[in-house]
Amino acid sequence: MKLTSWEEKGASLLARGILSSGPVRRFFIRKFENWLYDATVNHDSFGRPRKVQEDKFYLLRALLYSAERNIQRGYFSKDVARRMIENLVKGAFMHSGKDIEAQFKEKYGYGPPSFLVISPTKACNLHCIGCYAASGKAFHEKLPFDVVNRIVNEVKELWGGRFIVISGGEPMVYEDNGKTILDVYEQHRDMFFLMFTNGTLITEDVAKRMADLANITPTISVEGFEKETDARRGKGVYKKVMEAIERLKKYGVPFGLSITGTRLNADLLSSDEFYDFYFEEVGTTHMWIFQYMPIGRGFTLDLMPTPEQRMKMYWQWRKVMIEKKYFVADFWNSGVVSDGCIAYGRPGGYLYIDWNGNVMPCVFIPYYVDNIIDIYNKGGNLTDAIMSDFFKKGREWQFNYGYMKSGDEVGNWLMPCSIRDNHREFMRIAVEAHVKPEDENAAIALKDQEYHQGLIEYDEKLRELTEPIWEEMFLEKEKAKV
Ligand code: SF4
Repeated sequence: MKLTSWEEKGASLLARGILSSGPVRRFFIRKFENWLYDATVNHDSFGRPRKVQEDKFYLLRALLYSAERNIQRGYFSKDVARRMIENLVKGAFMHSGKDIEAQFKEKYGYGPPSFLVISPTKACNLHCIGCYAASGKAFHEKLPFDVVNRIVNEVKELWGGRFIVISGGEPMVYEDNGKTILDVYEQHRDMFFLMFTNGTLITEDVAKRMADLANITPTISVEGFEKETDARRGKGVYKKVMEAIERLKKYGVPFGLSITGTRLNADLLSSDEFYDFYFEEVGTTHMWIFQYMPIGRGFTLDLMPTPEQRMKMYWQWRKVMIEKKYFVADFWNSGVVSDGCIAYGRPGGYLYIDWNGNVMPCVFIPYYVDNIIDIYNKGGNLTDAIMSDFFKKGREWQFNYGYMKSGDEVGNWLMPCSIRDNHREFMRIAVEAHVKPEDENAAIALKDQEYHQGLIEYDEKLRELTEPIWEEMFLEKEKAKV
């Protein structure tokens, strides 16, 4: 698909901004920022609320400046920046990716997902309290290397995607037929990978190899500062994480951080101190906050940030994104910028495949219907994995809630989550689609009426708090247009 001259201009400004030095870089970065505003806010073909589009601009701008700061500090090599532009900007959003996406749309009536999350192994060298994947040393389930390979290929060939998220278990302990996760990255140099890792296995050699491959950004887990991290992950883990980060910085591998937001660290996550430390002193380029989801090992509603804490974190997220230009994505407070829930293989969204090949709508929805290995054995492909009733019903819910709506018809994306913020609807879909639980914890949760009631009450309270904000901040201008 040929680029319009306007798109060409945006890609060229970005490349010149990121790849030049000193004042020239700053000049083109500013130019690109203006282009980005125009592209996001003034050229939205979906007719989304203007305030929604503005928030998307703020988040993308935060990513741009978070990257620029670290390029300047020497923590983000130009080789990686070049490959990101090549694979993500040009490969996926333009050229071949666009053509494949258009073909998919013509065939199915809506676009393909953009990416997926694969957990190639359940094994982990740590044993963290409340792990969402209930991983540990005792687990040996893993996907065969050729299956991981095929999935990655099909994201590119069937959907035009160039981005894959790797999670776990701990991906760095994955090994099959003599191949490791780094061999997956090596085999797919035209893809870009974000890998969630505990960071403890990033040695000097690993950091160097990642720098040579230049198509990967590790995202390391912390829980706050040293005290909070060691309390959940084990004594001495924080120190190992900081040592790994120094190695990544030395070789120019941009890294991110991921944090589980709980009732216990919600205040810390609502402070400037936390973000200033990790973005300014440690040098992270991106940060992912996953508010505790009551699934996995020892699941409990008591660890979820309260609705009030969640709102406090929401205002802090907006502040660091807009004022400090730090790239932070907070699940579920950032739902506005992703046009709501991205699960169920939604157009532009994603799905999750675990170590057994079970296909789930989202990392945080531990229920499935299909298995990718069974699909492959029956002659199917990755697209068949998003065509179950479970996925179709999930997409139907997303489309009606807001994804296919425009202007003031869009539903409250401050409560985007299918399983957590809209639990009653989720249970209807799960029952109708006859889902299977991923593990014993998920099986217990499915039958636990107190658990369901607790989540439904949480949703009601959250709706009282978020509805006025959604109406006034995001929809008021839309209503005034009518
Ligand atoms: S189900 Fe919840 S966690 Fe998963 S993509 Fe949707 S909003 Fe995010």
